[in-house]
Amino acid sequence: AREWHLAARPRGWPVPADFALVEAPVRTPGPGEVLVRNTRLSVDPYMRGRMNDVKSYIPPFRLGEAMDGGAVGYVVASGDEGFAPGDAVLHGLGWREYATVPAKHAVKVPRIEGVPLSAYLGVLGMPGLTAYAGLLAVGALKEGDRVFVSGAAGAVGSIVGQIARLKGASLVVGSAGSAEKVARLTGEYGFDAAFNYKDGPVGEQLAKAAPEGIDLYFDNVGGEHLEAAISALGVHGRAVLCGAIAQYNDTSAAPGPRNLAMAIGKRLRLEGVLVGDHDALRPQFLAEVGGWLKDGKLRFEETVVDGFENTPQAFLDLLRGGNTGKMVVRLDG
Ligand code: NDP
Repeated sequence: AREWHLAARPRGWPVPADFALVEAPVRTPGPGEVLVRNTRLSVDPYMRGRMNDVKSYIPPFRLGEAMDGGAVGYVVASGDEGFAPGDAVLHGLGWREYATVPAKHAVKVPRIEGVPLSAYLGVLGMPGLTAYAGLLAVGALKEGDRVFVSGAAGAVGSIVGQIARLKGASLVVGSAGSAEKVARLTGEYGFDAAFNYKDGPVGEQLAKAAPEGIDLYFDNVGGEHLEAAISALGVHGRAVLCGAIAQYNDTSAAPGPRNLAMAIGKRLRLEGVLVGDHDALRPQFLAEVGGWLKDGKLRFEETVVDGFENTPQAFLDLLRGGNTGKMVVRLDG
């Protein structure tokens, strides 16, 4: 079976030559292991950080070894009594066609009618929990809040905006990188206003969309977006720092928000979120978000790239905004 290895560490934007397609034997599961045929792979922005050889909250990919990441698939052989062939599972050994996974690192996932298994890579998985925990636990969203979310047409952002609306935000504004995405935000996801950040200065567009300012900013982007949000936040406003994708391919440190000192007078709270801290919320998250999905109150979208051989390209496209909703790779069969 095939797997993708990290062939080189990029400087700046990654390129296809940074990845190598390698044929490797499929290992029969030993006691406490399961063999999974992966059917959908996740590519995520955080993987860009793992291509660098730097210490972070998650270790770097190793050169010349298989990469990993979220994946779903079906058990084909089991050395663990908790799993049987045919079980649908979520696990962390993506970037390969077959994975021999320690059973304790595989999760059997319940199927919800009308919801594809791949939802566990998106709305019901890591990005969904990031949105839920970031907005509710860290951002402490309150009814009536005016909310701004960047990266709003992506996996995390599209869920943030919809949860804000479902929880009674009085204004939900989103930004994204194309006219089509912007139209989706207001037309399908129920955002009150949206703009294309490529059309003009973010600060000016945000001021038009939220003339009275905002109470809560969910940051997926960093840079100019964060600066604009700091200006738009009112007294005691909060910013949830979730991602800074505008900077992930920078080769030198980006300048901080020039207006950070505004945080003093406005008594702002800027707080980071890491999804890994919020496992305890998972049952509540699955129940509430799963309920909204069943009731048709929450929409989720996927951009599907076909073919295992296209996994690196799917990842590169994700970094440039080629996705709406969750970017996933569909494997044959
Ligand atoms: P998305 O589905 O949002 O995909 C990434 C999107 O980023 C692209 O579609 C693109 O959309 C946008 N983008 C790329 N470059 C820029 C730029 N220069 N300025 C503005 N937008 C840009 O990915 P996810 O939903 O998976 O992740 C969203 C963010 O959340 C990322 O920053 C990620 O690192 C972070 N994250 C953090 C977690 C945590 O625990 N803290 C967990 C999960 C994700 P567009 O066309 O709009 O430009």
